Amino acid sequence: MREVKLTKVDHLDPERCEGTWPSGPCPYKRMEGTNLCPKHARSVAARKARREVQMYQLGQYERRVNEFAEHDQALGLRQELGILRMMLEKLLERCAKDAGEDQLILQMNPISDMVTKINRLVLDCKKLEEFSGGYLTKAQVLVLAQEMINIFAEYVTPEQLAEVASRITNVVETESYAKLVDESS
Ligand SMILES: [Zn+2]
Repeated sequence: MREVKLTKVDHLDPERCEGTWPSGPCPYKRMEGTNLCPKHARSVAARKARREVQMYQLGQYERRVNEFAEHDQALGLRQELGILRMMLEKLLERCAKDAGEDQLILQMNPISDMVTKINRLVLDCKKLEEFSGGYLTKAQVLVLAQEMINIFAEYVTPEQLAEVASRITNVVETESYAKLVDESS
């Protein structure tokens, strides 16, 4: 990211930034056409972008919870990916509209942050889809394990069943399943 130049000004300078730092009033010169220095403007822009994402996610929350309840994990990630891509598009649109190079620089942090998140999600989605393409999801494995335990119940004593159930559950929950997931990544 390109660093925006900070210029220190006299404390009485009318061009001085209106922001404050924990140490006191900000000593830097304002960016043209604003009342804040680049540093303050950037933190304001980042905060605004974060808030917009939060508001959007709040609006989507109820619908998404229902969707999560109905669909598997890969689909959930796909939706998050959709949201991130949409946010990125909006950010870029806004930068284009505001036209100034400063705007683009101000939004650099949220933009690169979003691109990183999108990349990560794409990889996660791919991994999960490859994985569930050939294998069962964990939820499906658990259902299958329960079915198997039910079958065992017809053939073994309650004491043996308890042991069988605990060993199967253990395998599904920790050892084999975790190994499969690791190997797929
Ligand atoms: Zn400042």
